[in-house]
Amino acid sequence: MVGLAGESGSGKSTIAHAILRILHPPALITGGEALFKGRDILEMSETELEQFRWKDISIVFQSAMNSLNPVMKIRDQLLDVMLHHGLSKAEANQRAVDLFDLVGIEPQRLDAYPHQLSGGMRQRAVIAIALALNPPLLIMDEPTTALDVVVQKDILEQINLLREKLGFSILFITHDLSLLVEISTHISIMYAGEIVEKAPARELFENAKHPYTLGLMNSFPSISGEKKKLTGIPGSPPDLVNPPAGCRFNPRCPRAMEICAQVAPKTKTISADHTVACHLYDEG
Ligand code: SF4
Repeated sequence: MVGLAGESGSGKSTIAHAILRILHPPALITGGEALFKGRDILEMSETELEQFRWKDISIVFQSAMNSLNPVMKIRDQLLDVMLHHGLSKAEANQRAVDLFDLVGIEPQRLDAYPHQLSGGMRQRAVIAIALALNPPLLIMDEPTTALDVVVQKDILEQINLLREKLGFSILFITHDLSLLVEISTHISIMYAGEIVEKAPARELFENAKHPYTLGLMNSFPSISGEKKKLTGIPGSPPDLVNPPAGCRFNPRCPRAMEICAQVAPKTKTISADHTVACHLYDEG
């Protein structure tokens, strides 16, 4: 499970939507690669993409109520994905029952409309739809942000169980770094559209280097240990149409130096699997 963290507006969801090529105009992919099992998703034709989405990579959006069709029964929305990919109606119906069982909802609820389910159940139903074709990769874009903490915990446990059972990988997007430290194997930190630090979860927690990562960490209260004032990060993320010159974090960075406003830092390897883009770690 790879976590992608950053403030709202840092570009996390844009990355997810770009990977699946579901960005809405005027958003446009102008360069780069999105490699999946050696193939560049950005090179795929629309017909290839139709087969690729759901089957190879599927997505769970933040708000289940917005990603479900309010005038269709859940069963029909599940069947829609499966029939589109060649399953017979009988196979799809059986799989729908199995999937509901898997995500912990009674199969009788398949014939409910989204508004007849609780928030937690709706999110489970969306996860069931995402798993309909057994994809090897799930992108989860703030899947628990709209839920209360008790339901959030239930859903996260369910996701972990499913992952262990079915063996898929997850790109988990959230602004909640403390949550990622608990559930991810690796974490990438995003600021103003760029990955500024990347490391195994534990290494990042114990040995974060980038001033932005440290700022995110200091924004969360600890429930144990001594009480201390939260410092947070001053200011807000920049307008990406006109980002700051040099390091994009420099107007907000407590450790900014002269060079930071002039030259964008390169990504450096600090230790195995730990990279950071910051002038503080320039050689010499
Ligand atoms: Fe701060 Fe400079 Fe590092 Fe950017 S490059 S994070 S401004 S110290």
